[in-house]
Amino acid sequence: KKKAIVIGAGIGGIGVAIRLAVKGYAVEVFEANSYAGGKLTWFEKDGYFFDAGPSLFTMPQYVDELFALAGKDPRAHFNFSRLDIICNYFFADGTNLIQHADQQKTADEFEKKTNEPAVSINTFLDNSRKIYNATHGIFLERSLHRLSTYFNRDAFASFSDLFKIDPMRTMHEANETAFSDARVVQFFDRYATYNGSNPYQAPATLNVIPHLENGLGAWFPEGGMRSITDSLVSLAESIGVKMNYNSPVEEITTKGQKVTGVIVNSITRNADVIVSNSDVWFTYNKLLKKRPELAPKKILQQERSSSALIFYWGINKQFVQLDLHNIFFSADYNTEFQHIWENKTISDDPTVYVNISSKCKPDDAPLGHENWFVMINVPANIGQDWDALITKARADIIKKLSAVLKRDIGALITCESVLDPRSIEGRTSSYQGSIYGSSSNSKFAAFLRHANRSSKLKNLFFCGGSVHPGGGIPLALLSAKIVSDWVPDPA
Ligand code: FAD
Repeated sequence: KKKAIVIGAGIGGIGVAIRLAVKGYAVEVFEANSYAGGKLTWFEKDGYFFDAGPSLFTMPQYVDELFALAGKDPRAHFNFSRLDIICNYFFADGTNLIQHADQQKTADEFEKKTNEPAVSINTFLDNSRKIYNATHGIFLERSLHRLSTYFNRDAFASFSDLFKIDPMRTMHEANETAFSDARVVQFFDRYATYNGSNPYQAPATLNVIPHLENGLGAWFPEGGMRSITDSLVSLAESIGVKMNYNSPVEEITTKGQKVTGVIVNSITRNADVIVSNSDVWFTYNKLLKKRPELAPKKILQQERSSSALIFYWGINKQFVQLDLHNIFFSADYNTEFQHIWENKTISDDPTVYVNISSKCKPDDAPLGHENWFVMINVPANIGQDWDALITKARADIIKKLSAVLKRDIGALITCESVLDPRSIEGRTSSYQGSIYGSSSNSKFAAFLRHANRSSKLKNLFFCGGSVHPGGGIPLALLSAKIVSDWVPDPA
C-alpha cells in the first residue's frame, strides 16, 4: 500500500489524514505535542473546562463531509446546534445590541438601537451573500495554483461576477459608505478580525465574512469545540490512520526534486506522499533547512495575521446579561488597529471578546460559576515585552468589563491561565504566534498565500491555516480537501 505521512495533527492535518485514508493510502500522522488538535484543544483547571483556541463554529458541513466520506453517519458521532443569538454587543456609548440568527430580527434590532434603518442592514448582508457566491467556488474550495480551477463552469460564473467582490476599496471605506451610524460601521469592520486582518487595510472583499456567520449560521458543538477534534481523531483512527504523539518531525528528507520521507525522533520514515500541516514558514525554515534554495522568499515574507492574548478565568458568578459570545467594543477602533498594526502594541482600550461555553454546556463550570475565555487581538510576536503588555492589558480589561457589567470582575476571578503570542508559537509552531497564517491586509493576499502543493518538490503538499485558502476551522478543513483532490490515487 502506498504511504502518506502527515506532519502535525491540527484540524487540517486530521482532515487530510482522513481523506487520504479514504483514498486508499496507509496514513501516519506525526504530532509534536502529546495531544491532537493544535490550536483546537482544551484544558481543565479547578473544575472549569476551557476550549483553548477557536470558539466560533461556522460551516459545520466540512466536518460532516469527513464522516460521510468515510461512510459514517455524522449525527451518530458529532452533533451541533444553531445559535439563536449569535452575539451580544456592548458598544462604548452604552448601546447593547443583540445579533440574532434571524436576519430580519437583527436588522430590526439595529433599527431600534442605532440610527441605521433595517433595510440598509439587509442590503449589506444580501451583498455579503453575493460576494460569497462569487468567491467561494474559486477562492475557497479550489487551489488558485491549478489551471483546472480556472477552466470549469463555476469559475466562469465567478469571473462574470468578479465586479461584485469589491477588491479596490478597504473594508472600512466600503462600510463607511454603506452606513451612516459609526456603531454599525464598527460592527461590520470587526469581521476583518475573523481572519486576523485590519479593516482599515483589508480589501472590502472580506465583507464576505458576515455572510458566513449571519447567512450560513453560527453553531455550537454539543460537546464543546474540543469535540470537533476528538470526534475527527476517533474517525481517523477508526479507518486505520495511525496517530503518533510526542513525535516532532525534525526534517523532511529529499532526493533531488522529490521528497522521500521524514525524520522523527532521529528515525527516518519513508513515504510516497508528505503533507505538512506545520506552519509553512517552519516547514521551509526548519524542516527543509538543508534545501534553502527551495524557500519561496516572497511568500514567506508576507505580513502575518494578528495574534491573540487570552485570559481563561474561572468566574464565581453567573451573568444573565451575557451570552455564549460577547463583544465589548473599544471607543475608538481606528486607534485600536493603529496600535496593533503600526505600533505593534496594545491600546489602552482594546475591544474585548468574552466567550462563555458554560452558557451552552453548563458542566464546563462548577454550579453557579462561569468559565470565561477573555480575548483581545494583539500584534504578532516580534519580541515585544509581553510580560509588561499582559499586566497592563489585564488591568485595562478588568476595568472595562467591571464598568460595563457594574461588578468588580477582578474580585470574581477564582483561577486564571494565560495564552499569548509566545505560547501560541511555542505550542503550535505558528510563526510569530499569528493565528491565521499571513494577513489578508492586501488585495493580493489570496494569491500570495502558499499553494497546497510544492512546485519544486514532488509529492510535498501543504494544509492548514498558514496556506491557501487561509485560517479558521472551515478553511483549514478546505485546505485538506484541496490537498486530497491533488494527491494522485494510490493505485
Ligand atoms: P494548527 O492548529 O496550527 O496545528 C498544527 C499542528 O502541527 C500542531 O499540533 C503542532 O504541534 C503540529 N506541528 C507543527 N510542526 C510540527 C512538527 N515539526 N512535527 C510534528 N508536529 C508539528 N478559527 C475558527 O474557525 N473560529 C474561531 O473562533 C477561531 N478562534 C481562534 C482563537 C484562537 C485563540 C486561536 C489560536 C485560533 C482561532 N481560530 C479560530 C483559528 C483556528 O484555530 C485555526 O485556523 C485552525 O485550528 C488551524 O488549524 P491547522 O490545521 O492550521 O493546525
